[in-house]
Amino acid sequence: MKQLKTLHIYFWKYRVRLGIGVLFIFLSNYFNVLTPQVTGFVIELVQKSLALPGYKTPDRQPDYDALVDRFISSVNGHDFSTSKVVALCGITILILALLRGFFLFLMRQTIIVMSRHIEYDQKNEIYDHYQKLDTAFYKTHNTGDLMNRIAEDVSRVRMFTGPAIMYLANLVAIISLSVFFMLKRDAELTLYVLLPLPILAITIYFVNNTINKKSEKIQESLSDLTTNAQESYSGIRVIKSFVQEKAMLGFFTKNSEAYKKNAIGLAKVEAVYFPSITLLIGLSTLITIMIGGLHHISNPEKTNLATILEFVMYVNMLTFPVSAIGLTASMIQRAAASQKRINEFLQTVPSIRNPADAVAIQLQGNIKFREVNFTYPHTGIQSLKNFTLDIRNGEKVAIVGRTGSGKSTVAQLLLRMYEATDGMIELDGIDIRKIDLKTLREQISYVPQDVFLFSETVENNISFGMPNTEHSEVITAATKASVDKEIAGFAYQYNTMIGERGVTLSGGQKQRISIARALVKKPGLVIFDDCLSAVDARTEKEIIGNLNDYLQDKTAIIITHRIFTLFNFDKIIVLEDGFIVEQGTHHQLLSIPGGYYAGLYARQQEQEDSNESNSEPDSYRVRTPNSELGLKTPFGRLKNIYIFVISKTKAIS
Ligand code: ATP
Ligand code: MG
Repeated sequence: MKQLKTLHIYFWKYRVRLGIGVLFIFLSNYFNVLTPQVTGFVIELVQKSLALPGYKTPDRQPDYDALVDRFISSVNGHDFSTSKVVALCGITILILALLRGFFLFLMRQTIIVMSRHIEYDQKNEIYDHYQKLDTAFYKTHNTGDLMNRIAEDVSRVRMFTGPAIMYLANLVAIISLSVFFMLKRDAELTLYVLLPLPILAITIYFVNNTINKKSEKIQESLSDLTTNAQESYSGIRVIKSFVQEKAMLGFFTKNSEAYKKNAIGLAKVEAVYFPSITLLIGLSTLITIMIGGLHHISNPEKTNLATILEFVMYVNMLTFPVSAIGLTASMIQRAAASQKRINEFLQTVPSIRNPADAVAIQLQGNIKFREVNFTYPHTGIQSLKNFTLDIRNGEKVAIVGRTGSGKSTVAQLLLRMYEATDGMIELDGIDIRKIDLKTLREQISYVPQDVFLFSETVENNISFGMPNTEHSEVITAATKASVDKEIAGFAYQYNTMIGERGVTLSGGQKQRISIARALVKKPGLVIFDDCLSAVDARTEKEIIGNLNDYLQDKTAIIITHRIFTLFNFDKIIVLEDGFIVEQGTHHQLLSIPGGYYAGLYARQQEQEDSNESNSEPDSYRVRTPNSELGLKTPFGRLKNIYIFVISKTKAIS
């Protein structure tokens, strides 16, 4: 339950609303408990005035509420006929019901509205925190889980901040008010009538525990279901191409069945739960009538018909709030479990954050890696080993090497998505850990290896993060990325929606839009990670030509699997298993006999020559695996599927 303490700040924020809400709850219940008293009075009066057989004048006047006493004395003050008094009492009961209803309405308006405000604030807080968490966190938590915590768990917490608080305050109000008046009326009878309540509470406690355990199971299976459904949607193309729809459906059905089984189990317990509570409450009414009747027989002056009737009404009033104890307890327990899950994330401190004395820099582009070692935290894979590199302002550096050799890791470290395990990275002579994260990332133009575009317009995708970009700048960037002609062919040109419900782009188009996005920025450092892997030779040549101009005054790191001799690289680095194995200019590297670079160049030349001698359709290049999808399925063969893209190309160098 201590998990819910985190909500105190919200309750404090909305304290006025909460306070007024609780006041309304007390007022609505106050008008509620006056009804039995007015009823008791009118029953007494009718019996007396009609001189019904067996009626005995009570030995003392009932101790009613001051408001009811006032009503009675004002009625007695006038010489009204019995029927007029009955009618007046009827109207009073109606007014009391209306007042009660009015305050119930206000109660919902305050407490439930407060819970919606808290829900809104909490969602924003979680979302904001998610954004601050580092890349490593996202690698270890699946999207379904993240989504569940921000959606499902927040809704469960709202059931506590809204309905549960409301029921709880209502319960306290109705019990305290009705028991107060019951004790005043007949203390002994009150004790008998309330006797079944502890039994009720204990029963609820046990049944509730079962309900909670079942709910937890449901939540777990729902989480699995969401994660799997979401992975299936993202990987739908792979599933279709491997004709695995049936297998996936079978897997989904299995998960779905587990969820159904758990949900039905819960429904069964709940089906027993509510009638048993009604039965127990019904027993209270029975006991009231029976004990009241016995008291009346032995002492008719003390316990009369009016007393029994008033008690039956009080007991009925207690029915819903008492039966809601179980519901409320269940809501609170579920909310606590959900808040625990939310807190786990909220208390996760991002390992990469701004230091207190962060320096905002104007990046010039001088980069130094000093004996950097890097191990991915959750896999333990050491991807950079003793990595030392000096890049000066304005230099163009290429990083080549086999797949998995650590090229992208260099980019990740420069963007400070991860922290070097040891060693030091300096930008313009300042330790990267001391640089303000926002200014650092703002001044790096990065084209990631895995393209990601938002379900937005082409224009917004290109100007992403740069809201003041002019349309002409977007066009210039698209032109430099050689994608402008294709965009012009779309139905709504730059306003065409991409992705869900929008146009579906080819791999090469996506890659070029991603390049255009980087070109809109005016950065101090440019990092292109294998960003021309999905374009054909002619376009590749065109883009490189354009990039040459764009990169003239910028520091650039270009990660590639192919050698671009069109770029006059100042330095070329060859990575092998995290180590720099070769380093130098194009010509220096070519002179290393048996070197990786020289070999790569020779193969590329060979390919180019054969392309030139053969007609275009005969030349293909096989790309390295660039897409990997790990689907969580019981079918081993769907794990780690690699897609090899074979594209028609004409090598350029
Ligand atoms: P490619 O040419 O295929 O893009 P790369 O040279 O860019 O390869 P990296 O992505 O830097 O290679 O990966 C280097 C090593 O680190 C690989 O062994 C890879 O499995 C591992 N690795 C990469 N990203 C992660 C990650 N997020 N978490 C854990 N290990 C990773
Ligand atoms: Mg890579």
